[in-house]
Amino acid sequence: MNLADINSIKKLLSSQGFSFKKSLGQNFLINGEVCPAMAEAACDDNTGVLEIGPGIGVLTEQLSKRAKKVVAIELDSRLEKLLKITLADCKNVEIIFGDAMKLDLKKIIEEHFSDCDRVSVCANLPYYITSPIVMMLLENKLPIDNITVMVQLEAAERLCAEVGTRDAGAVTAAVTYYAEKEILFDVGRESFLPSPNVDSAVIQLKIRKEPAVKVNDEKKFFRLVKACFAQRRKTLVNTVSNTMGVDKTALRTALSDIGLEETVRGEQLTMEQLAALSDRI
Ligand code: SAM
Repeated sequence: MNLADINSIKKLLSSQGFSFKKSLGQNFLINGEVCPAMAEAACDDNTGVLEIGPGIGVLTEQLSKRAKKVVAIELDSRLEKLLKITLADCKNVEIIFGDAMKLDLKKIIEEHFSDCDRVSVCANLPYYITSPIVMMLLENKLPIDNITVMVQLEAAERLCAEVGTRDAGAVTAAVTYYAEKEILFDVGRESFLPSPNVDSAVIQLKIRKEPAVKVNDEKKFFRLVKACFAQRRKTLVNTVSNTMGVDKTALRTALSDIGLEETVRGEQLTMEQLAALSDRI
């Protein structure tokens, strides 16, 4: 069965009486070129791949061909019967039914991939939880090499922006702290069934061995990052003093120490400046 062929997919879905659940971000890929390219970028034959949301297995099949092993986590148990059909020949794939946000991914990686040289996460992510999933993967400091995922184009641009530019947000700084980031390629909305209202892109986050900047207190650094982007039009002095309860005079002194004007806005700081400020307040 050609899993990327729209007619085969439609036939399969209707034979099983499957209906899409928008609330689960179910937009399945129907473009035969996208999954091989994603799988190629994510893994080689010594890689264990953790997939989130296999759907009917179109990406899973391509990962299975290239990786040593694939473990795919799917929330919608209605897909069990379908996946048994579509992945019948993929012997190195295991499906776990559950919520990727709630399962112990560290344990799953330890249990399944101890014989692999490296671990990748690869997915066409459900759009309603793109950033929470990416942040959960990074903050849990999972032993992974890269995260290669499809996200909405706007999210891709935000996640992969340069910190210190207008396109960046708190999530950009957090991603940059943990990973080197890159937009690999764009994917048009017509590549999905049902077709969403927006285009998408595949991004790759290569996990750094050491964080991008050194800080004395990681928790404080991330509180500062959040505060800096919370009210983007206000000056950093105003928003950080309000949200973190830091004295304004102390903030002005810290900014001056690192060569910044007291009128600077939080979104204008680079990673190095955010780190230096966090260590001074
Ligand atoms: N990989 C398939 C493809 O590319 O055609 C499906 C991708 S679809 C955008 C997202 C998939 O994630 C759906 O199968 C959906 O049921 C599943 N999903 C949604 N929320 C999830 C969660 N919290 N944990 C695991 N899977 C989830």
